[in-house]
Amino acid sequence: MNTYVLEAGGECLVVDPGCCSLDEVLESLGCRRVVIAVTHGHFDHTAGVDCVKEQWRGLLAAHPQEPVVALASAEIGRAWGFSVEPQKSAVDLKLVEGSHLSIGPLSFHVYHMPGHSPDHIVLYSPEASIAFTGDLVFAGSIGRVDLPGSDPNAMAASLKRLVAILSPETRILPGHGPETTLARELEYNPFLRDPELVFDS
Ligand SMILES: [Zn+2]
Ligand SMILES: [Zn+2]
Repeated sequence: MNTYVLEAGGECLVVDPGCCSLDEVLESLGCRRVVIAVTHGHFDHTAGVDCVKEQWRGLLAAHPQEPVVALASAEIGRAWGFSVEPQKSAVDLKLVEGSHLSIGPLSFHVYHMPGHSPDHIVLYSPEASIAFTGDLVFAGSIGRVDLPGSDPNAMAASLKRLVAILSPETRILPGHGPETTLARELEYNPFLRDPELVFDS
């Protein structure tokens, strides 16, 4: 999976820390204040939350729907043969529909976009023209909707909203695989061209 680190004005946003070995990157960027944001609670996106938070005295920003996702995450982890230790960190900044997350001079709009999981959010900075889309949309594909807690109806609605909200040139930084843009996905991603295809996937 992809972990992203964005530095702006000495503040650093860590999106989806899937591991603990980020110290070198955070040091080299001169991060003074660290905010850890998770797009959703699945273990592959959150396995580094506790250690990064502790090491950097970071703030954890996430959708507050933890218990459901922690349970689903453990179940999913076991199904894939991982023993998942639930993260213990409390959520410091609750990110819900309409929230804003400030990193230095940048402000990210928070959109609640469930479907892959009930707690899934998207972080979008129109200013910087980037969106962290987690497991909602990938280059050429979308996140799974057959996991515990997934909901194909919600997924189709979230994809429609994403297309309506992001401007076409937005860089999409997904939870897995290479980055893309909304314009490219509108051309090549069948699920963004027709979100109803979710029901056939
Ligand atoms: Zn996921
Ligand atoms: Zn994932």
